[in-house]
Amino acid sequence: MLDRIKGALFGLAIGDALGGTTEFLSKEEVKEKYGRLTEIVGGGVWKLEKGETTDDTAMTLAVAKGIIKNPDDPISAIGEYFLEWYQSNPKDIGNIIRTVFELYDGDWFAAAKLAHEKYLGGLSAGNGTLMRCLPVALSYKSLTKVEEITERQSEMTHYDNKAAEACLIYNRIAYKVLNGGDLSEAIAQEVKGTIYETVLEGKKPTCLPDGYVVHTMQWVLYWLMSSETFLDVVVGAANEGEDSDTVGAIAGGLAGLAFGYEGIPKEYREALLEKDTLVEISNQLQFASL
Ligand SMILES: [Mg+2]
Repeated sequence: MLDRIKGALFGLAIGDALGGTTEFLSKEEVKEKYGRLTEIVGGGVWKLEKGETTDDTAMTLAVAKGIIKNPDDPISAIGEYFLEWYQSNPKDIGNIIRTVFELYDGDWFAAAKLAHEKYLGGLSAGNGTLMRCLPVALSYKSLTKVEEITERQSEMTHYDNKAAEACLIYNRIAYKVLNGGDLSEAIAQEVKGTIYETVLEGKKPTCLPDGYVVHTMQWVLYWLMSSETFLDVVVGAANEGEDSDTVGAIAGGLAGLAFGYEGIPKEYREALLEKDTLVEISNQLQFASL
């Protein structure tokens, strides 16, 4: 179990660190600049240090810490860690999340609704809650509890139900894999009857891998269904550009969960600047809710 939990957090952070280099570039620009990017090198639009991660990993750790602090009812603790991160003045923060943070006045759900209706033109189906929801699936024995907290952590910032729906599908897959299920089988079962069912045809999505959660999710599922190894998933996502760090983080999280910590090449695990924190949080998550 611990090997899978560690694999999930490291996989997510590696996808983030690799994709952080190519974020906002087009696929053609990535090719021109890097040929095929296969190593964690830093740089990119955020001028990352080698092994540095971005908001995807930071917010995932905030969700994890909130659950560790108060597993039964983690929402306000998660919110406290969100604000702690926000106050650290991060270099990258998504537009929807920034808007909600600025409006927050003691009630996350009210802030998300207000942001959606008054400031975001009714557009709040970004991928910012999908990128951080994985720790929920790693923390609870009960699937009902996983589903409840998964949905609520999404609604804290993203009012559009499409965001929560993607998180639910993703974490149901994660829950199955954590408990010994096969990744491809879990995906096939959980996307059936949803808007993501077409991914089972195995074709490359025709949309861009951008920040719209429906697009992100199609690419995530595509990389997971079409890849043989952990590296195929995160390297594939990084070289596609656009919102590559977030697609890489989301796909890398599930891939790391499936392959386990020992299934991730050591040099990639070692490259992460936050590796000690990731080990520590994984250990605590394992015992968050027994
Ligand atoms: Mg990011």
